[in-house]
This record gives sequence, structure tokens and C-alpha cells, in this order.
Amino acid sequence: MDPDEGDILECDLLVVGGGPIGSTAARFAAKNYSGKIMVIEKRQEIGSPVRCAEGISTGWLDELEIEKTEHFMSKKVLGAKLYSPGGHELKIGKELAGDEVGAVMERDIFDKEMAVLAGREGVDYMLKTSAINVIEEEGRVKGVKARKMGDEFTIEADLVIGADGFESQIGRWADIYDSLAPKDIMTCFQYRMTDIDFDPDHTHFFLGSAAPGGYLWIFPKGEKTANVGMGVQLSQLDGSMSVRDYLDRFIEENEWLNQGQAIDMVAGGVSVSPPPEKVVKDGLMLVGDAARVVDPITGGGIANGMKQAKIAGEVAARALNENDTSEEFLQKYEERWREKLEDKLWRNYMAKEKAVQLDDEQFDQVIDALSDQKIEEMSTEAILLAVGEKYPGLIESFQDMM
Ligand SMILES: Cc1cc2nc3c(=O)[nH]c(=O)nc-3n(C[C@H](O)[C@H](O)[C@H](O)COP(=O)(O)OP(=O)(O)OC[C@H]3O[C@@H](n4cnc5c(N)ncnc54)[C@H](O)[C@@H]3O)c2cc1C
Repeated sequence: MDPDEGDILECDLLVVGGGPIGSTAARFAAKNYSGKIMVIEKRQEIGSPVRCAEGISTGWLDELEIEKTEHFMSKKVLGAKLYSPGGHELKIGKELAGDEVGAVMERDIFDKEMAVLAGREGVDYMLKTSAINVIEEEGRVKGVKARKMGDEFTIEADLVIGADGFESQIGRWADIYDSLAPKDIMTCFQYRMTDIDFDPDHTHFFLGSAAPGGYLWIFPKGEKTANVGMGVQLSQLDGSMSVRDYLDRFIEENEWLNQGQAIDMVAGGVSVSPPPEKVVKDGLMLVGDAARVVDPITGGGIANGMKQAKIAGEVAARALNENDTSEEFLQKYEERWREKLEDKLWRNYMAKEKAVQLDDEQFDQVIDALSDQKIEEMSTEAILLAVGEKYPGLIESFQDMM
């Protein structure tokens, strides 16, 4: 039954956002806590429309207890190919990337599957329901004001998890952080293209000034069909060209692409920022894109967010079982997710800050050196050593990352 204007609903744990990360946090909470857990989602359908290039590594799926994957995997790939502006190519296969070598999925099916797994644990979903503010008493979050079909009502909860994505309002309403700096936002545009001529067994990444401060991706969805998209650092857009203009120009200039047909288009943003100083306060946790755990180099947020969501759900259950949802108790969440993800997030943020300063010639040198040197692992150190061997001057400004 739909709530009426002015109603007050109650639950123990309220998750705002039914994306894959919100559903996963709710699922792991429900596995460990038997009270009422609710997810509200502003859209009318979980997972749709898709705003994603759908590329993932696959090594983390077991850890997340996701057993059946065939139905949401669209295409497994053998590895990735990176291209510099001058045409140098670096192939990264399983021997280098290990289980980071990935797949391209059907994101709408994946998101729905994550909701099904949560639903089976007893989580309740309410669709077409937007949080429109948080309710706070003396600095403690007590629930949200929500709207469904024009009716405004209250949802009271002992604990709220904000999983409302890149544009998270929960984090801002609760004063956890400010807006992102334009240099820490990647603005993206993507076409699903068909009838294009490319190698469908790899993901493809084009670096350099064709995509200022970002890159162009081609993620295969099958024979002759791929997600063809681009991310550009927001601070590098001066108003003369949009990210879509950059993407259109690249497509137009490449014969193997410009014969193709676009069958859908997607626009969106991702954070490529350092992790926030905190993602909890009394009665509130943030997770996934709302907690800004997107990898600053790749712009991929699914794997990090899912790993963080499992921890969030487990700690939320413990907090509810022990009747303590204070910021102090929720430090258990901060400690566990930071232990798992924070070092790499910072390292990749620093690497991104340097990479956005490289010009086309330097990208040529980096890819040339890496394809030449046969590096044995994909660590920052190994990359810098290999590049330094051939182009010592190029890595001087990267020395602090060693
Ligand atoms: C163009 C593009 C390409 C990308 N490609 C990749 C990729 O290839 N690989 C990868 O790993 N990552 C990729 N990402 C990032 C990835 O999509 C995110 O990291 C991922 O979706 C994060 O999941 P989430 O559940 O935190 O947020 P979301 O998936 O954004 O889910 C948040 C949910 O919250 C709901 N919501 C928001 N506000 C409210 C509210 N007030 N009340 C109720 N519900 C609300 C939204 O409707 C949404 O369903 C890409 C992003 C973009 C924009």
C-alpha cells in the first residue's frame, strides 16, 4: 500500500538508493539482522535506465557471494588494449592483470539481480520513492522525508544508509561533505554502437588530448557492437566543446567507427576524487558512489562500491543488534573499508593528478616504454620503473609515488 501525505513509516534500517551498492548493503545487513530493512528507490524500475559502460573486473564476485553470473555477463574479454595518440599499443592480458581482467555486463540485469538477492533475505523495496531531506535531531540522523506520487511522508529509522549515487544529496544534507571540485569530476557521454569494426575480445582505451584529462573507451557487447564512450575532466571543458562533441569528433575521424550506428546514448558523471575524510555520522553511513569510492584512474565504481557495501551491511547489522548506531560505533565501518580500499584510492588519485598533466608526446612515450619493457605486474612501481628505464626524464615528477 502506498503511504499517504503526512504518514509516518518506521523501520530499523533505511537504505536510500536501490542501485547495486544500496541493494548489497541491505542484503548483508539482512543476513545478519532480523529486523525491518527497507530500500527506497526514486526510479520506477531498478537498474533502468542504465548509466554505465558496464565494464568490470570479475575477481571480487565470490567475495560478494554472487554465485550465478551468466545471465548478467554480456561478454568476457581476454584483456585490455591501451592506445597512445601516436598509435603505440599496450596489451594487458591475464598474465599482467590477474583477476582484474574483466567482462562487460548487462547492468540493468545485474542491478535487478542484486535487488533479488536482497529481497530473498527479507529486504523490503519501495519504488518511485525519493528521499527529499534527512531528518536530524541534535546532529543525529533519525530518518528521511520522502515523496511518492506527490505525497510527502516521513520514514523514521534507527540507521540510514545513503546509497544515492554520484549525485548524492544525503551526504550534503547531512553536512558530511561539500560539492566536488570540477577537476575531481569526470563528465561522460556514451553511445551503444552497432555495425562497428573492432576487436571484440578486448576492452579498448584511447588516451591523450582526444579526451582531455580522461579517456575514450570501447567495451564490447558482442560482434560489431560496443559501448563507445568518453570521460573528460570537467575542469578541462572551456565551453567551446562538450564531452559529446569530443566523442563525436573521435568517431568521425575513425573509419572503423564512423560507419556504425548509435542505438542508445547515456550521459553522466563520476567522481575521481580522493576518498572523503568521513562517511559516517550518528545514525548515518554513506556507501558506493555516495561515499566517493570510485577508482580515480579508471572511473570504475562498481567493484569498490560492492566491497564497501558488504562491510557497510555487516557493520549496520552489528550496530542494530547492539543498539548503538552512534558515529563512534560506526567507526568500525570506517576502519574496515579504509583498510581494504583507501591506500589504492589515494595512490590512484595521485597517479590521476599526474596523468592529467601529460601531453600527447608523453603518453606516446609511456605506452611505448610499457609495450617495450615487458613488465611483469601492473603495480605503480613496476610501471614507473619500466617507463623510467626508457624515458628517465618523464618520471621525475612521479618519484614521490614510489
Ligand atoms: C557513463 C558512465 C560509465 C560508467 N562506467 C563504469 C564501468 O564501466 N565500470 C564501473 O565499475 N563503473 C562505471 N561507472 C560508475 C558506476 O556506474 C557507479 O560506480 C555505480 O553505479 C555505483 O553504484 P551506486 O549504487 O553507488 O550508485 P547508482 O548506481 O547511481 O545508484 C544510486 C541509486 O540511488 C537512486 N537515488 C538517487 N537519489 C535518490 C533519492 N533522493 N531517493 C531515492 N533514491 C535515490 C538512483 O535512482 C539510483 O538508482 C560509470 C558511470 C558513468 C556515469
